This record gives sequence, C-alpha cells and structure tokens, in this order.
Amino acid sequence: MPLVNAKEMLTKAKAGHYAVGQFNINNLEWTKAILLTAEELKSPVILGVSEGAGKYMCGYKTVVGMVTAMIEELNITVPVALHLDHGSYEGAKKCIEAGFSSIMFDGSHYPIEENFAKTKELVETCNKLGLSIEAEVGSIGGEEDGVVGMGECADPDECKMIADLGVTMLAAGIGNIHGVYPENWPGLSFETLDAIQAKTGDMPLVLHGGTGIPDDMIKKAIALGVSKINVNTECQLVFAEATRAYIEAGKDKQGKGFDPRKLLAPGTEAIKAKVKEKMEIFGSVGKA
Ligand SMILES: [Zn+2]
Repeated sequence: MPLVNAKEMLTKAKAGHYAVGQFNINNLEWTKAILLTAEELKSPVILGVSEGAGKYMCGYKTVVGMVTAMIEELNITVPVALHLDHGSYEGAKKCIEAGFSSIMFDGSHYPIEENFAKTKELVETCNKLGLSIEAEVGSIGGEEDGVVGMGECADPDECKMIADLGVTMLAAGIGNIHGVYPENWPGLSFETLDAIQAKTGDMPLVLHGGTGIPDDMIKKAIALGVSKINVNTECQLVFAEATRAYIEAGKDKQGKGFDPRKLLAPGTEAIKAKVKEKMEIFGSVGKA
C-alpha cells in the first residue's frame, strides 16, 4: 500500500474512541521494527520524522525512499502515514516536495497572528496535494538547557481559531511535555482538554510527549478526544537499554557477535515490544 495521509485513520480513531500512535523513526532498524509491528497487529501507524532525524537520515528524500521501498518489500498492507514532526515553515515545504504524506507545522513559537497566517498557507498547499497537516497551539514543554518546563496549557479559543483553518489534527498543550517527566509533574490538565474538545468538535487532537504518562491518563485523554499520540523517547530508552545489556553481557565478543545485524537486534526487538505495548494501550490493534 502506498503512503496515505493521516486524515482517514484519525477520523476513524476519533469516532471509534481510540488513538493512532505516531512513532518517531531514526534509522532503518527503527522503521522496520515499527512497520512490522503495525502489520502484525493490523494497526494503522504514523511514522514521525523530526527535522534533526531527517538530517541524520541524509535528508527527507532519503527517508521517503527508504520508507516507501520498505512498505513494498515487506508487504505492509496497513495504512502508513509519513509525517514531519514539529516542522518549521521551511522544513514543511521541503517535506511536501520530498513526498511526505503528512506534515506538522509547529508555529507555536510565533505570535498567534503569524502562526495563523503561516498555518493557513500550508493548509491550502496540503489540501491541494491531498496531504494531512497538524498544527500546534500552546507550546509543549520539555527540557531546554537542562531546565524542564512543566508544560503549558493552550487557550481553547486559539485552538478553535487554528482548527477552523482546516487543519487535519491539532496538537494542544495540556500540561504534557517532551522527554522524561519530572517527579513533581502535576499531570495532564483534563479540564483544558475538555474545554478544547468542546470548542473544536470532531477535530482529532494530538497528545505529544507520550513517554511516561500513566496509562490511565492516556485512556482518559483518548476518551476526551485525543486520537493521535506521539511516542519517541520511550523507544529510544528501550533501544539503549537492550543494546547496553548485550554489550555488558560481552555478547559482542562471542563469535561474530560484533556483526551489526546481531548487535542491533536486541534493540530492534525492544522497539517492537514497546510499539506493541503502546498500540494495545491506544486501542489501535485490529483497526487497520
Ligand atoms: Zn512533540
């Protein structure tokens, strides 16, 4: 199946009260692990690519080439969207040109009027080309220079303004943050989420920073209109842990254990297990 945009899978998810996972990719192993798990579980999936990861993988065209070829060679039949994560205005344009099926334009750091104008322009381009587009209102916290922010809450009226531009999905800060949550994190603001959903109706809402949010909060967020959940750090943590265990056990020094296909295998399996766990919690299993 060729790449699809995220509109249909998220509309179904919102109506069916489950969420589709966006799992960020970093290389071939990541991509393979996520695609195979989605196929095994018959789950729709969104592959997220940050601008940094895009650069690391030698540019957006390389990413499109790898992902589309892998879908074909692995006989992946479930819907797969290839999505730019936290794109800049320029990055969004490059991904559109390279063949991504979905983009996020993160204009949250612009004044609302400028975020509005740039989002509007990109919505028009995406509509013309049949791509889906995610916008963000209220910045999502995270670690910056060693300081972990507690996560802002978006203004529901601003959310409605951006939603009305015709975006496919909307990321709104509800106290969520990227990376690992600090111990004194007060939790998600369901009051804000409820107010945003009341203003934006059928619009699929996106929860960023899925790593370490307790499962019961995830389920409550889905019940309140979240239809896409981004997972990134969690896959990185389990990959690193499994790779470290392999090295610390001295397996790279046994026989041909230094072969990269062996060395990277435990980490790849760990990503598969994590993606499976998430798809089960999100309720997307069997929804492809
Ligand atoms: Zn994010």
